[in-house]
Amino acid sequence: IKAGHGTIDKKKPVPGVGKIIAIGSGKGGVGKSTFTSNLALSLAKKGHKVGIIDADIYGPSLPMIFGKRDEKPRSNSEKKIIPVEAFGIKFMSFGFFINENDPVIWRGPMLGGVLNQFLFDVDWSGLDYLLIDLPPGTGDIQLSMIQNAHVDAAIVISTPQDIALLDAKKGVEMFKKLNLPVIGMVENMSSFICSSCGTEHHIFGEGGVAKAVEQLQIDFLGQVPLEIELRTGSDHGLPYMSQDQFQGRPVWTSFMNVTE
Ligand code: ADP
Repeated sequence: IKAGHGTIDKKKPVPGVGKIIAIGSGKGGVGKSTFTSNLALSLAKKGHKVGIIDADIYGPSLPMIFGKRDEKPRSNSEKKIIPVEAFGIKFMSFGFFINENDPVIWRGPMLGGVLNQFLFDVDWSGLDYLLIDLPPGTGDIQLSMIQNAHVDAAIVISTPQDIALLDAKKGVEMFKKLNLPVIGMVENMSSFICSSCGTEHHIFGEGGVAKAVEQLQIDFLGQVPLEIELRTGSDHGLPYMSQDQFQGRPVWTSFMNVTE
């Protein structure tokens, strides 16, 4: 990957959108979609209009997280696709167009075409932030999204585990090479506080992301602990930050702090 190479000059702004922020991770399963959806809700709580593109083509999870698995987006009179809306967040996902049980075996250029449609053929007007939930890794999809659209910045999420961090660092380096400013890293699943004894357990290790951000010279945006309700909320289509009953809990506070 060479910065300034090829299609980089073709970057187009997405009409009607304030800032576009890509959310990436090195590995899958570190909580990128959970983070993206709850970050969107936290930004909305601060009064912003937020949308999400679920670009995690191989494992689209936003329809489930937002409780919209049976929804099909429609188009408006100007032939633009109307994004699906839940809890005040507008979003578009590949998951709306495939059978949940079918594996995605499309080739790169076809996927790139769909993602271009998600960027430019969807009515995103009126948004302050459009978040892009990227697939894990440093492949074609990440590259073409960043090269085709005027993305403003990226956030990388990792657990404190060495193996996740190794790949997360590669993700940060990829964004830097593409001249995309990295706002910083978020550490997810940083610890678990036992509800019966109150002890904090560092299940995936401790201090890994703090060390990584120092090496990479980027900001540490915050830590999100493990909490059962964060998982159950996503599984039941009621994302954590949409439930005011959790206000004040460590996970809730972490999300509100990241939006500062
Ligand atoms: P990714 O998008 O990186 O593949 P997901 O957001 O799908 O990861 O998260 C993987 C699983 O871990 C999901 O079941 C999610 O609900 C759960 N999860 C993510 N972060 C947390 C957390 N901090 N506490 C509890 N469960 C979490």
